Amino acid sequence: AFNAAVADAQEALNAFIVTTPEAALSAAAKVDADRSAGKELGKLAGVPIGMKDLFATKGVQTSAASKILEGFTPQYESTVSQKLWDAGAGMLGKLNLDQFAMGSSNESSAFGPAISPWRRKGDTAALTAGGSSGGSSAAVAARLCPAATGTDTGGSIRQPAAFTGISGIKPTYGRCSRWGIVAFASSLDQAGPMAHDVADCALMLEAMAGFDPKDATSLDMPVPDWSALLNADLKVKKVGIPREYRIEGLNADVAKAWDDGIAWLKDAGAEVVDISLPHSKYALATYYIIAPAEASSNLARYDGVRYGLRDLPDGANLQDMYAATRAAGFGAEVKRRILIGTYVLSAGFYDAYYTQAQKVRTLISRDFEEAFKQCDVILAPTAPTPAFALGEKSNPLDLYLGDVFSVPASLAGLPAMSVPAGLSSDGLPLGLQIIGRPFDEQGVLNAGLAIE
Ligand code: GLN
Repeated sequence: AFNAAVADAQEALNAFIVTTPEAALSAAAKVDADRSAGKELGKLAGVPIGMKDLFATKGVQTSAASKILEGFTPQYESTVSQKLWDAGAGMLGKLNLDQFAMGSSNESSAFGPAISPWRRKGDTAALTAGGSSGGSSAAVAARLCPAATGTDTGGSIRQPAAFTGISGIKPTYGRCSRWGIVAFASSLDQAGPMAHDVADCALMLEAMAGFDPKDATSLDMPVPDWSALLNADLKVKKVGIPREYRIEGLNADVAKAWDDGIAWLKDAGAEVVDISLPHSKYALATYYIIAPAEASSNLARYDGVRYGLRDLPDGANLQDMYAATRAAGFGAEVKRRILIGTYVLSAGFYDAYYTQAQKVRTLISRDFEEAFKQCDVILAPTAPTPAFALGEKSNPLDLYLGDVFSVPASLAGLPAMSVPAGLSSDGLPLGLQIIGRPFDEQGVLNAGLAIE
């Protein structure tokens, strides 16, 4: 019965790339054994967790949803997944995503898109579960697992959470080790939990976070007991509303959810203040220079020699093999980013694009530093619209524009969370985003709790 249910859900949602029910069952069996032996149980004892297929898992295929990693089975475990298993969780399977986490709809996956369990009122069109962590959001929203991991480079935890009515937090850059996570843009990539509510996210993040000497950008700071310290009383807290995020033509349902969120936080005792993040309008352009630049460098390792796919045409030399492997292995969006990235890093254009983008990134961080002199957390929409139909956004630029509210916190390395905030007029989930000061996951989670 279990296998039949999984097969049905898989057919409807395409959330998993690989399922590993044995691993989840053996974690559950270990809980029974440990309990009988009187051993102390871990924080996540027996919890079946879906892993975004960007985390290296020892002995289990890791694909980044790309053909170029075909046949790649890591000999090692990512730090974050190991920490989850150490806390007693078990792996239910590897979840679908946009190829190399590049995308906002899961449509760049070589395995086909994950599909949201939601539908618009009176409409059967299949909707995106968001991206890049679309398999994670689809699986959690459909109750296939209580929680899943995501990674967020420019919104990939928050936007899929918003699109499917679940919660997800991207912690401060450096909280979760990047070791063993397939790299996209190393100065932005952060892992985080996606779950049904704020408390589950807090608990799971405690297990995932922590210093790791194997990641040079890992934060050497203690991991607070976020879940034990959760508190939705926001008296003496100030919530900033960034005026630049009231973009022209903001979707009416999204604007209403934002107003509702403001009212709920006031009810929780918070004072609401108007703030300015003046460089917001440059965030998308900055992100779409820096992220592809880093990606083009990180993806140079997929050369047909070391991992996965090798396309070796008859009589080919090394260069031919590189070219054939990459042509066959990388999807269109990944190729587009590699081309943009190598272009902005090229000798003739480096200063005009990459250096300039780094300077603007600093200005965006300073905007937040200034704003956090006036407020404790910032409240904004997670995405400018609810989920859209698969195939609806065929122009890559349309997809990029949807990241307008999520990339600023990524560029500044700040903790940011999406929590559900009601439904749109056509019945789709809407998410609100809370952005916090560096290391203040607690403040973000508490405000999230007051909203949910
Ligand atoms: N949608 C953004 C992009 O395509 C963010 C992706 C992510 O956070 N991994 O790059």
